[in-house]
Amino acid sequence: MTLKPFSIADALDWALQQLAQSESPALDARVLLAFCLSKPDSYLYTWPEKLLSETEQTCFSQLIARRATGEPVAHITQVREFWSLPLRVSPATLIPRPDTEILVEHALQLSLPKRDEFGVLDLGTGTGAIALALASEWPQVPVIGVDLKVDAVELAQSNGQALGISNATFRQGSWFEPVAGQQFSLIVSNPPYIDEQDHHLEQGDVRFEPRSALVAKDKGMADLALIARQAPTYLIEQGYLVMEHGYDQGKAVRTLLAEQGYSDIQTVTDYGGNERITLGKWS
Ligand code: GLN
Repeated sequence: MTLKPFSIADALDWALQQLAQSESPALDARVLLAFCLSKPDSYLYTWPEKLLSETEQTCFSQLIARRATGEPVAHITQVREFWSLPLRVSPATLIPRPDTEILVEHALQLSLPKRDEFGVLDLGTGTGAIALALASEWPQVPVIGVDLKVDAVELAQSNGQALGISNATFRQGSWFEPVAGQQFSLIVSNPPYIDEQDHHLEQGDVRFEPRSALVAKDKGMADLALIARQAPTYLIEQGYLVMEHGYDQGKAVRTLLAEQGYSDIQTVTDYGGNERITLGKWS
């Protein structure tokens, strides 16, 4: 079949119609077209009149059809940038979110005791996003990422290797289990925190992400509570726990940390102005 000549601008216009259901049709179309052309996004602005080859048209129409079914852009391109690090993603893990960069930003500002000696633990590391971001900023600090899923551990390991980050290592197991007997100056986590009844689970990218990375018992609080209760055993004196949580869980997480005896408890808001990260010092 011969396809009729189709320019970059035509292709983007056409895709906008196809992606009417997406929250970000224009962005999705640009990312997917740039991917089919193996060019940066800026190329599309510079050459709107350039005609696509048949192979490029076929690639684009196939990817737009996948996106139109709701499949996340990051699953189609298999990459998502986090903290300026291009990370491979897969359906085995959560897709890294920009809001989680706020956790990294705040962790980097903490005054951590004996950081280079005791290092950092990232629980439920997924793609390795938080662990690799911190390891890239602190090349002398040992960082351990833990995940229950073997697929996630392998993905995080390969992301670390691809980025040449050698101070982050990854282990398989449930929460603190693989680091029994060890202590850290910082523990970070973006655990599952969505209530299983939450209607957001039927919308957007989360439909394609593993439930195990999203949903927790007790209205989404179960894993946050487990981590807050067990972290003191694994933190050195004056070490910090920093966790991401749902927009409506800030108060519950502050209460949880206060009950456990953490001090300097603070909540930080995300780009949408929602309470998203809470941290406490163990002393
Ligand atoms: N922030 C994600 C969302 O609401 C959920 C991440 C998580 O459960 N840890 O889509």
